[in-house]
Amino acid sequence: MQRLILATRNANKVTELHAILSGAGVSVELVGADAYPDIPDVPETGVTFAENALLKAHALARATGLPAVADDSGLCVDVLGGAPGIFSARWAGRHGDDKANLDLLLAQLSDIADQHRQASFACAAAMALPDGTERVVEGRLHGTLRHTPTGTGGFGYDPILQPEGETRTCAEMTPEEKNAISHRGKAFRALAPMIRELMG
Ligand code: IMP
Repeated sequence: MQRLILATRNANKVTELHAILSGAGVSVELVGADAYPDIPDVPETGVTFAENALLKAHALARATGLPAVADDSGLCVDVLGGAPGIFSARWAGRHGDDKANLDLLLAQLSDIADQHRQASFACAAAMALPDGTERVVEGRLHGTLRHTPTGTGGFGYDPILQPEGETRTCAEMTPEEKNAISHRGKAFRALAPMIRELMG
């Protein structure tokens, strides 16, 4: 079976993407970047989700000599002109402090009424080959932002995003329910035929 490298050291993400891609008919061996500990992390110098996903996929493909996929995602709030966007993971200053990021965002939006609280999760999924061939697609999950966090599942901004047509937040859904509608699910399902095309 051909090997496809995934630009993440997070085992949960490897499992999640394995479920999404095998459900979309991709049968490859998915390996996380932690299998290659000597490869340095790539600085995310792009200004769009797509640029950052492509940067990571190309760097990994070049370093391993194997096909690589990467994603970049975040929360885009309409009334903030799309912020936090690519800065979602470090909105409160320190990378990956989910609670501080969420608390700061809620404080910034505290005076904003329900009818102006539209937001979306966005995900760019990219694939690169060692010869420089590339593909990139984007998926979105639209919804509105609650005033108080609800639910204990998920991560990041899940407790405040209520998807369109839902009465629950993402943090109240099972992983399967969220994958079925999520920005990451949509992006990787759109990438799946391209992976099949490029990997024969
Ligand atoms: P990254 O793609 O791992 O860089 O994600 C960037 C940041 O966006 C995360 O740290 C979260 O704050 C936010 N984010 C991305 N996807 C989700 C999601 O599905 N739920 C909640 N927050 C998310």
